Amino acid sequence: NKFTDFPISDDIRRALTILKYDTPTEVQQKVLPLAYESLDLVVKSQTGSGKTAAFGIPIADQLEWEEKKPQVLILTPTRELAVQVREDITNIGRFKRVKAVALYGKEPFSKQREELKQKTHVVVGTPGRVLDHIERGTLDLEKITHLIIDEADEMLNRGFIEQVEDIIREVPDNRVTMVFSATLPKDIESLCHAYMKDPTYIEI
Ligand code: AMP
Repeated sequence: NKFTDFPISDDIRRALTILKYDTPTEVQQKVLPLAYESLDLVVKSQTGSGKTAAFGIPIADQLEWEEKKPQVLILTPTRELAVQVREDITNIGRFKRVKAVALYGKEPFSKQREELKQKTHVVVGTPGRVLDHIERGTLDLEKITHLIIDEADEMLNRGFIEQVEDIIREVPDNRVTMVFSATLPKDIESLCHAYMKDPTYIEI
């Protein structure tokens, strides 16, 4: 059980060494092979399990550096998680010079609009602010190939699920979708059923 068991590029592998990620965690062992095959995944796992790197490694690896428009959209229930995920992706993708931007409320819209004008590979954000950017035309979803919904059950608890659905409907159909959730309440299962392509379920 080593990171060398997976088709991780040298750029990303070097970053893992610096981060002292020596051995993949259980969720990483299960998710990595399927994510590198671009399968839709529903992953039942807790915070602290290493789930961020489980999706962060394959998406940082698979995105095309030359493309200017965002290719990955990650939705999180809180600003704190958005900032943390943005930082983790930036660290994992440091040698590939992956550019990630965080979008959340209570920070000026104009600052985020300016960031989005630069090359952006990964957008991490909370549903309200992400929708805001979509509606105002400052976030272009045309090139999104990967959609990640992190802490989906927390989205539900906070009443964000309709906004999440509104966003999903704006993302191109031809994409990979991954949902991470500590629990799988009925509303999350139906969301997965409605918007994913025959997902593989992984339980940790
Ligand atoms: P997460 O569940 O994504 O919030 O990650 C929990 C913590 O584990 C974070 O501090 C990560 O930096 C760390 N982590 C993730 N993957 C590994 C790994 N393979 N080896 C050691 N630490 C890790």
